[in-house]
Amino acid sequence: MYSKFQQFLQSELTEIKNGGLWKNEREITSPQSADINVKGEKVLNFCANNYLGLSNHPRLIAAAKKAMDERGYGMSSVRFICGTQDLHKKLENAIAGFFGTEDSILYASCFDANGGVFEPLLTEKDAIISDALNHASIIDGVRLCKAQRFRYNNADMEDLEKQLQAAKDCRFKLIVTDGVFSMDGNVAPLDKIHALAEQYDAIVMVDESHSAGVVGKTGRGTTEQFDLRGKIEIISGTLGKSFGGAVGGFITGKREVIDLLRQRSRPYLFSNSLPPMVVAAGMETFKLLAENNDLQNRLHQNTEYFIKNMIFEGFDIKPTESAICAVMLYDAMLSQQMAAKLQEEGIYVTGFYYPVVPKGQARIRVQLSAAHTQEQLEQAIKAFVKIGKELGVVR
Ligand SMILES: *Cc1c(COP(=O)(O)O)cnc(C)c1O
Repeated sequence: MYSKFQQFLQSELTEIKNGGLWKNEREITSPQSADINVKGEKVLNFCANNYLGLSNHPRLIAAAKKAMDERGYGMSSVRFICGTQDLHKKLENAIAGFFGTEDSILYASCFDANGGVFEPLLTEKDAIISDALNHASIIDGVRLCKAQRFRYNNADMEDLEKQLQAAKDCRFKLIVTDGVFSMDGNVAPLDKIHALAEQYDAIVMVDESHSAGVVGKTGRGTTEQFDLRGKIEIISGTLGKSFGGAVGGFITGKREVIDLLRQRSRPYLFSNSLPPMVVAAGMETFKLLAENNDLQNRLHQNTEYFIKNMIFEGFDIKPTESAICAVMLYDAMLSQQMAAKLQEEGIYVTGFYYPVVPKGQARIRVQLSAAHTQEQLEQAIKAFVKIGKELGVVR
C-alpha cells in the first residue's frame, strides 16, 4: 500500500532539493546565546529571536527550576479541567500589565493563539482585512474562520482603505497586522491603521511577536511607539522571542474578547496547559523588565550601532525600525555564498531568497540582541566588510 505514496513523497522531496529550497538544520551544542557552538565551532549568533538576551538568563533559569521543584513538571490537563495553577493567572495578569490591556489568555504558542483567535469571534457576516505579509499563523487562523477575507498590500494605507470600503456592508470588520514584518524589519503604521479603523468603524488586531520587547522606548511594542496603549482591541504575542525564547503564546486585549476566547477558542480548550516552569520563567521575565529599561536600551543601542556602521561601510540596508536588519544582496546565490563565508568567519547569519522573500530581493537577515557586546558587533561588521569585499558587494 505504501509504495505508491512513497514514490509520490520521494518525488516531492526531490523537487524541493532540485529547487534549491531544502532546509538544513544546523545542530547547536550549547545554550542559545550571543555565542554558540555549531558543529564544535564557536560562532557569534546573529539569527536568533533572542532580542533581549533572555534565552539563557540566570534569573529565568532559577525561576524555572524553582517552579519545577515546587509545582512539578507537567499539568496533564487543559486549562478548564484541571490545568490552571495560580501561576497561569499571574502570568496572564503580568502580560496584561506589560501591554496596558484588560486581560490575557495563554496558549501553547503564538501560532496556536493566532490559529484560535478569529473563529470564535467572527462569522460569515463579518470581514477580516489582513496585511499581505502577515505571519503564516495569521493566514491559517483566518482560513479557519468563516468571515469574509480581504487582503491589502504590505503597510499600504491606500489599499487598506479600499478594502475597508469593499467590506463596508459587513457587520464587523477586523483589521489584522504584524507589528514588525520579519523579513524587512519595518513596523506596521499602527497610527494610520487605527485612524482608518475609527473612520470605517473597524477593530484592530496586531501581532507583537517581533515587536514586543523591541519597539517603543520601553519595548512595550507598537502600541507604545504610536501612543495607542489600551486602544488596540486585540494583541497577540509569543514567549518564544523577546520573552525568554522557550515556548508559549498569548492574546491580550479587551476583557470580553478574552472571556469569549476562554469559552470557545479551540487550541485553548483542547490543548495542554503550559508547564509551570515555563509559566514561572515567563513571570520572572516581566518582573525583570519592570525593574528597569537596561535590556531595551542595550538592544536599541546595539541595533543603531550595527546599522550605522554597516551603512557607513557601504552595505545596502533596508530601512528598519526593529532589531531586524536586512542586508540586501538581491541575488539568491550570492546570499547563500555570503552566509556560508560569514559562518567560516565565525558569524552565524541566514541568507533568505525566493520564495521566502520576493524574487530578486535576496538578503542576509541580521537580528540584533541585547546580549551582543560591543566587541561582538565590531567583529561581525569586520567580517561583513571582509567577505563583502571578497564577493564584490562593497568596495
Ligand atoms: C514567531 C511568530 C509567531 C509564532 O510564534 P510561536 O510562539 O513560535 O508559535 C507568530 N506570529 C509572528 C508574527 C511571529 O513572528
